[in-house]
Amino acid sequence: MSFESLDLPDFLLRSLETLGYAEATPIQAASIPVALSGKDLLAAAQTGSGKTAAFCLPIVRKVTGEATAGKAPRHLILAPTRELAVQVGAALERYAEGAPAPVRVLVAFGGVGYDAQMKAAAAGVDVVVATPGRLIDLVERRSVELGEVQTLVLDEADRLLALGFTEELNAIMEMLPEKRQNLLFSATFPQHVVALANALLKDPERVEL
Ligand code: AMP
Repeated sequence: MSFESLDLPDFLLRSLETLGYAEATPIQAASIPVALSGKDLLAAAQTGSGKTAAFCLPIVRKVTGEATAGKAPRHLILAPTRELAVQVGAALERYAEGAPAPVRVLVAFGGVGYDAQMKAAAAGVDVVVATPGRLIDLVERRSVELGEVQTLVLDEADRLLALGFTEELNAIMEMLPEKRQNLLFSATFPQHVVALANALLKDPERVEL
């Protein structure tokens, strides 16, 4: 399916053309309309399927459509590892390249000092991409405030749980506004992922390819 038919702004279509993405992958064609509609989404997606763009493109469109650029993030993406968080952050930056106003992305992960991440947070952010433990640390340090989050994405939910982040995920969900959109992407659906999806998602659209 062409990206033109997916209701994305021109600057995103130009980014995709520059990146050489000729057509939406099946997961993108199925997920982007749901993500833009505001409904919850449960997506079965492997690495390599193009899942990153499936949630990043709608988030970039939403950010550029927001009337005011507040200081607290409106969109939160949780990833299981530093490597994945960095990759997702880089993808957001690439897609948002020609945006009418800059899309401010904070990538936060553990194992490094707090200074750079806290400084970026203090300058104001639109989207946070984080590993769960470091996000909680930043909230406890009052560096990041989660009260304005409208979109929550769990990327690689199966790995988040396999790496033992269940408690952190529950704590983070408690910090978020009740009224928000939830998007869950996972390659596999063992019982604990199904339980998380049931607890998190309200009447989700399902995308399984
Ligand atoms: P992901 O599954 O999100 O890790 O993406 C896998 C790779 O596919 C990444 O290198 C993306 O840049 C690339 N990619 C994502 N969507 C498309 C597309 N529609 N056309 C071509 N390449 C894509």
